[in-house]
Amino acid sequence: MSTKDYLEKDYYKTLGVPKTATAAEIKKAYRELARKYHPDANKGDAKAEERFKEITEAYNVLSDAKQRKEYDDARSMFGGGFRVPTGARGGGAGGTFDFGDLFGGGNDGGLGDVLGGIFRRGGAGTQSRARRGADVETETTLSFGDAIDGVTVSLRLTGEGPCPVCHGTGAKPPSMPKVCPDCHGTGQQSRNLGGFGLSEPCKTCKGRGMVVDDPCAECHGSGRAMSSRTVQARIPAGVADGQRIRIPGRGASGENGGKSGDLYVRVNVRPHPVFGRSVSELTVTVPVTITELALGADIKVPTHRGPAVTIHIPPGTPNGRVFRVPGRGVRRKDGQAGALLVTVEVAVPQELNNKARSALEDLRAATIGEDPREELLRRAAQE
Ligand SMILES: [Zn+2]
Ligand SMILES: [Zn+2]
Repeated sequence: MSTKDYLEKDYYKTLGVPKTATAAEIKKAYRELARKYHPDANKGDAKAEERFKEITEAYNVLSDAKQRKEYDDARSMFGGGFRVPTGARGGGAGGTFDFGDLFGGGNDGGLGDVLGGIFRRGGAGTQSRARRGADVETETTLSFGDAIDGVTVSLRLTGEGPCPVCHGTGAKPPSMPKVCPDCHGTGQQSRNLGGFGLSEPCKTCKGRGMVVDDPCAECHGSGRAMSSRTVQARIPAGVADGQRIRIPGRGASGENGGKSGDLYVRVNVRPHPVFGRSVSELTVTVPVTITELALGADIKVPTHRGPAVTIHIPPGTPNGRVFRVPGRGVRRKDGQAGALLVTVEVAVPQELNNKARSALEDLRAATIGEDPREELLRRAAQE
């Protein structure tokens, strides 16, 4: 199996099995596909024959534990963000050998071992070490009701990942990166400085130990590309505006078998035209007339997603008083709902009909001599 095959062919996809498939599942998938595409069953169908070959090739690799491990290692290494810079071709003699040579002859060590050796020698040992994926942040805007009830949202995430064309190698397929001819893969160059040797990153390969002769046209040799994916995220009930929700394991994928990072979703909640919210309590401001407060009344107030409820206003209620309606707020995790807080606010009539005007004038006449500011003025003068 050549390197190119390892990197370009997705044997799991060919067999239609997940990466985690057991040997038995792989065998079963192969049998079914092989029966379907077998040349005997598809006489003269070139496409079926081609497909049969692919299936068989995939099965040959994945059914052999050792080959499967080599294949997985190669793909996780290159598919998982291995970076090779665009490098100038070095003029140094010797030391040039390409990856194909390494992979071609069944080496004793697995493919991963061979690569690991190169990277360690190249001073880039961390490249092959498992690395946790980065945390990713995004935001979403919910309606007032969805924030209260909880909702599953589709989030489109854009991030940097391995280039799909070169599988992250930076080399134009089918070429492969080569060991840097100047530093022979060490990534270091020594310089003699006044009697003692100084080691510095190799200029040809920028310390990577690898160079690319023919850079991938898609990523210009960087091996990285922007890609986007959609993630379904469950936003729990009762989320507040500005809150940050952590969704473990949905961030950037890890490298070389490392764990994925976390996804953080900043939630914006659209205001409701009528209701406000403070944790598990809802608030609403209800206009009332002066007579309703002075004489008392039963008034209808709206509730969120429920029928209106009647509250009793006792005679002599001051403007701005808050009434508590239990159980009409936000349902909490324990199943209990908070209260709806109703603030009454006098609506002063902007226009009066004749009857109302004369009634108010009568009220004024009846209360003449009652100055509501008398007490205020007296206390203000005391100091
Ligand atoms: Zn590329
Ligand atoms: Zn170099």
